[in-house]
Amino acid sequence: MKTIASFTVDHDKLEKGMYVSRVDGDVITYDIRMVKPNGGVYLPSPAMHTFEHLFATYVRNSAYSDQIIYVGPMGCRTGFYFLTRDAMSGEQAIALVRECFAFIADFEGKIPGSERKECGNYLEHDLPGAKATAADMCKVLEHWTGPMLQYDYQA
Ligand SMILES: [Zn+2]
Repeated sequence: MKTIASFTVDHDKLEKGMYVSRVDGDVITYDIRMVKPNGGVYLPSPAMHTFEHLFATYVRNSAYSDQIIYVGPMGCRTGFYFLTRDAMSGEQAIALVRECFAFIADFEGKIPGSERKECGNYLEHDLPGAKATAADMCKVLEHWTGPMLQYDYQA
């Protein structure tokens, strides 16, 4: 079988941030790296799960809701995939993710979709953990720009 494109990125050289991993027509796949790959520290499953609920809820209620295809965690627990369509620009995607992560960092109350009937593992949630990850990523993305979305970007 062929090696898929996302496995050809040198994961030992990656840092936290937001990157374009695929462009398929008007669909753009972003990799949002929240911990350093192979850094020995990974997103704990409960925090990542809560983060997913809040991330998806926020972007699907935003002005760009019709352009959001998918939000979901990476199996390696280093971050999230975020897919948009309809020529949503990189700058718009960065701004939306930044707003969303600020929302998560400050979120209080009941986690959306966390009732037993709504979720496949409703007891495995960690809101304080999700908020801490969001706050950390707000700092990482504070000055993120369009050109920095390229995996091989060199400042
Ligand atoms: Zn769930």
